[in-house]
Parts: sequence; C-alpha cells; structure tokens
Amino acid sequence: MEITEVRVKLMENSDDRLQAFCSVTFDDCFVVRDLKIIEGSSGPFVAMPSRKMTVHCPRCHCKNHSRAAYCNQCGEQQQQYAGGHNEDSRGKLYADIAHPINAECREMIQEKVIQQYLAELEDRDQKTSGSYQRQDRVTADEPEPVQGPHQGSPQEAAEPPLESDNGFGQGIFP
Ligand SMILES: [Zn+2]
Repeated sequence: MEITEVRVKLMENSDDRLQAFCSVTFDDCFVVRDLKIIEGSSGPFVAMPSRKMTVHCPRCHCKNHSRAAYCNQCGEQQQQYAGGHNEDSRGKLYADIAHPINAECREMIQEKVIQQYLAELEDRDQKTSGSYQRQDRVTADEPEPVQGPHQGSPQEAAEPPLESDNGFGQGIFP
C-alpha cells in the first residue's frame, strides 16, 4: 500500500498548536480526511482523524460524553469510560476513526504528510516574503517580451520582404 496523494490545508492562525488539516490518498483509490498536524514539543506530528467518545447512560440510554460524571438526561451517575482512547491537552476524550495498526505504517504516513506540510510551509513563506519582488517582475518583464518577440518582430521579419517583392521597397530606395 502506498500513499499516492497528500493534501495539506495550512491554518491561517498558527498560534494554536493545530498547524494544518490534511487528507491522504492510498493507492489512488481510498481517501482518509481530517488528519491534523499538531506542533509538538519535539516538532510537528500527525494526529489521526478522531471523534469525541460518547457512552450511553445505563439507565436512560441517552448519549453522554465519556467524561461525564452524571447523565445529561436523567442525572444518573455514570461510570468512567476506560480503555481504547486518546486524551488531548484539553482533557476531552477522542477515539481515532482511522489509524495505522503498526509502527511501520505510522512512520510512512507521518513521513509523507510532514514532508508535504513542510513543502507547503516553504511555499507560503516564499509567497509572502517575495511578493513585492514578484509583482515588480510581473509588471516590468512580462508585458515587454509578449509584445516584443511574439507580436512585433515576427511580423516585421515576415512583411518587409513581401512588400519589397511587391515593389514597395523600390519607393524607399529609388
Ligand atoms: Zn440517563
């Protein structure tokens, strides 16, 4: 199985630890969306798509989030959910929706996603730091080559010999 495409959407406000959302395509035929790139203490890492865990109240079967001490519906005291969960920095409980089941696959995804993420970051930095230079180049360089070689000179090179053959050149050089 190979990753055939990685799309990264950088977050505008990178004060947050969440740096980007991304989607990963496997073998050109299966897409997993909502992976996140989180800025960790030892560099960026990839978080798998996840959802907040819920548990059903044993008394009324209403859904409560898995940290709830009491049921939102009937007030029954809840047992704490245990096992098979991840805990984020804000203390909510999340479960991965899709995730690798071995280290090799995890590293493959991590490597490809971070690689694309760094490329997108570099691309954005170049665009923002070089915007003035790039605008100068567009206004100064591009219009002239278009009008020069593409419009002016081919016509000038093609027409005078024709006109001189028709007798026009004889008027200029009598
Ligand atoms: Zn209940």
